[in-house]
Amino acid sequence: MKVSDLGERRLLERIRARLPKPPGHVVVGIGDDAAVVEVARNTRVVVTTDALVEGVHFDRAFSTPADIGHKALAVNLSDLAAMGATPVWALLSLALPDGTAVEDVEALVDGLVGLANANSVALVGGNLTSSHNQIVVDVTAGGTVHPRRVLLRDGGRAGDLLFTSGTIGAAAAGLEMIKAGLPPSPANEQCFSKYRRPDARVRLGRALSATRAARAAMDSSDGLADAVRQLAEASGCGAEIDASQLPIDDGARRWWVSQGVDPVDRSLVGGDDYELVIAVPPKWRGRLRQVTRRVSDPSLRCVGVLTRTANEYVVVRDGRRERLTGGFEHW
Ligand SMILES: [Mg+2]
Repeated sequence: MKVSDLGERRLLERIRARLPKPPGHVVVGIGDDAAVVEVARNTRVVVTTDALVEGVHFDRAFSTPADIGHKALAVNLSDLAAMGATPVWALLSLALPDGTAVEDVEALVDGLVGLANANSVALVGGNLTSSHNQIVVDVTAGGTVHPRRVLLRDGGRAGDLLFTSGTIGAAAAGLEMIKAGLPPSPANEQCFSKYRRPDARVRLGRALSATRAARAAMDSSDGLADAVRQLAEASGCGAEIDASQLPIDDGARRWWVSQGVDPVDRSLVGGDDYELVIAVPPKWRGRLRQVTRRVSDPSLRCVGVLTRTANEYVVVRDGRRERLTGGFEHW
């Protein structure tokens, strides 16, 4: 059997089935944005890893080497943010074809280190290896979190309000614009930069953790619809999204309208947002106000609610209830 016969999720299930039961010091194992390990009494280390593969995650015609370095770290910091962790260190493993220009490698490292410095993250090591055709940028990142303040995916309950940070759809629209050869302009700049250099919501994740304002959290690396479904599924709930509340990026909306496609559908399934999606009980809204006082950018928008009906994911649009589809699987 080939991996393409199985798909990403079933392949992951098979891998999990081969592992022994995790020992007691593994607080959170496979299945969340990152793992949480108790390395010493009352000390939690949060670790995650994510690779960017040329031709799959990036194209050197669409992103500069510095953009690629930035994004390779950002996607990892985003997973740490979704756990409420403070990032501390990162490892960088590079697979490079023979003909890779040294200046490109230096620019990639500079892009990564720029974001690392901005977040007080130290690049502490890594690995270099040759590859046949494609560049692979593999980053592992670690951080710390207060033992009782870890943000998990599975903590949501029916009735919790669903919020997303920032806007949705910009990165997906940005990639389409870049592919279409659209020149950068003030109107679409946000879309270009969200695709090439996503921000990780590290400060927001820390504030959510410190105030205990969220009962569940994950990042929307594969789009809002995917994050809502995964958070709801892990929490044993269904979810209902209100299409009229979606914070669709203005430039993305204009682009999709100009292309004759539906901005709501596209922004829900579009990946690479790296926003935080959280579940908040209505009575915790006071705690959420503490969060927005600490971190005003990005803003938080209530886009829906967790429901009692497990596995039912709905988007309500002009009074109609439609099935919420979306999510990305490799193979
Ligand atoms: Mg994630």
